[in-house]
Amino acid sequence: MSCVVVGSGIAGLAAALFLQRKGLKVTIYSSKKKKAASDIFAGILYRYPGRWGKKSKYGDAAFLAAVDLIQEVEKKSARKIIISKGVVKKFAPRLKKFDDVVMEEGDALIEDAYTIDVRAYREGLKDLIGREHFVEKVVEDLSQVEGWKVLALGYGVKELLNLPNLMYRKGQQYIGQKKVAPSKYGSIVGRGHVSFLGGDKVCLGSTYETDFEDDSVDEAFAEYEICKKMEPWYAPLGDVVDKEFVSGVRVGQDTTYLPLVEEVAEKTLVFTGLGSRGLLYHAYYGKIVADKVVLGDGE
Ligand SMILES: Cc1cc2nc3c(=O)[nH]c(=O)nc-3n(C[C@H](O)[C@H](O)[C@H](O)COP(=O)(O)OP(=O)(O)OC[C@H]3O[C@@H](n4cnc5c(N)ncnc54)[C@H](O)[C@@H]3O)c2cc1C
Repeated sequence: MSCVVVGSGIAGLAAALFLQRKGLKVTIYSSKKKKAASDIFAGILYRYPGRWGKKSKYGDAAFLAAVDLIQEVEKKSARKIIISKGVVKKFAPRLKKFDDVVMEEGDALIEDAYTIDVRAYREGLKDLIGREHFVEKVVEDLSQVEGWKVLALGYGVKELLNLPNLMYRKGQQYIGQKKVAPSKYGSIVGRGHVSFLGGDKVCLGSTYETDFEDDSVDEAFAEYEICKKMEPWYAPLGDVVDKEFVSGVRVGQDTTYLPLVEEVAEKTLVFTGLGSRGLLYHAYYGKIVADKVVLGDGE
């Protein structure tokens, strides 16, 4: 049995890998002409995203699935994917009820949290899947794709499918050099994050723009928004030099933080809506998607 996955963000790649492991022949269509939210410099993986200090639904299982997959990819692809372990979440007293969290002056030190080099992770996933299974192609019309398909299109879903109740938020990051105060923790999270990437490299992100004209980088806005949010906790940020910027649109459902996995037509599954929790949910839901494809074919 064969299957086509459209999209090579972390959702499409996780689904493709699990589909292969179920014995399917998988082809992945993707294009550099379409922007991926997964093209970020650094992402944070932990179980308590959001402002309210609640554990995400399926958070424990999803976290384990993500950490397992990331560690496996890091080992097998011999790439450095985990930048650091441990994250400081500023002013998050509600997190004190959790076992892996130590409180320090109102800040939560989350020990079971990772800063991930998402670009290296995607390359590592491609190594494991096998480069020969990738085709550079923009899918303009779903009738171009034969047989079982998994549509992990991220923001591209907006053009190809009419799915109500999805929300789109642009996020931006920048990376640069700065002499940073030594910290045994990898990242500081608030309404954005400062991540130490080793040496004097630092990544600042991210914005939550709901009103945007297009998905491209708006450097002035990114810098203004990110610095404004982070400076009270980590000042001064304004002198980060040698900057490089990225942007991407996160897709989410408007009623839940969980991803959307839905059969939109015969033998056609959409897998999107990972929102700001893509690292947490991609592996857990990638497996669910692979199971659905196999069961959907009566196997
Ligand atoms: C600035 C920023 C910071 C973030 N920080 C975090 C974080 O700290 N922790 C966290 O867990 N998550 C974070 N996220 C969210 C996370 O990156 C996303 O949830 C995740 O990357 C979504 O993955 P995806 O595979 O669903 O979509 P995408 O990564 O957007 O991938 C979509 C893929 O589909 C392809 N595509 C689209 N249309 C077509 C088409 N017509 N034909 C062919 N291919 C197509 C694209 O090329 C791409 O490969 C952040 C996002 C941003 C933008």
